[in-house]
Amino acid sequence: AAEPFDLKAHIRGVPDFPKPGILFYDICTLLRDGPAFRAAIRQLADLVRPHAPTALAGIESRGFVLAAPLALELGIGFILLRKPGKLPGATIGYNYALEYGTDRLEIQADAVKRGDRVVLLDDLLATGGTMAAGIHLLKEAGAEVPLAAAMIELGFLGGRARLDAPFAALVSYD
Ligand code: IMP
Repeated sequence: AAEPFDLKAHIRGVPDFPKPGILFYDICTLLRDGPAFRAAIRQLADLVRPHAPTALAGIESRGFVLAAPLALELGIGFILLRKPGKLPGATIGYNYALEYGTDRLEIQADAVKRGDRVVLLDDLLATGGTMAAGIHLLKEAGAEVPLAAAMIELGFLGGRARLDAPFAALVSYD
């Protein structure tokens, strides 16, 4: 199991980003620190491993930064959920609502194999809209989703209630 490590000490809160009144949790300070980055991946591995995933999916783009090393650590493959128009070949897409306007995630139609258990990972869960879209896409592509996980949860926004899968995070802000 991963050694205890204070991840919050390496996450920076940036006031008024990307707009006034928003406190943005910046993981760049954590990624920039080798032991902190490694501890975060090891803690995520402990969180995810019991769910016996056959593949890991990450959400563009900060989700990729965590999901790729986690897939490597777990010895399983990595599936990319991307912004529109980035993936070649046949894709499945899902539109979801943002505070202003809409966004869309896509997956390659053949990314999920029969019987796959795919754990979905993103850096941070806020309102849950992005993660909910990712879960929807994976299921539409044929995956079982035993867990959605994030490094950080903004617990006060209640995003996990919107998710059609179990959810876990390493740290939460309330
Ligand atoms: P949601 O869809 O409202 O849950 O927003 C989550 C998505 O927005 C994730 O992909 C995050 O990368 C990004 N996000 C929202 N708030 C923050 C933040 O405070 N720090 C870093 N990323 C954030």
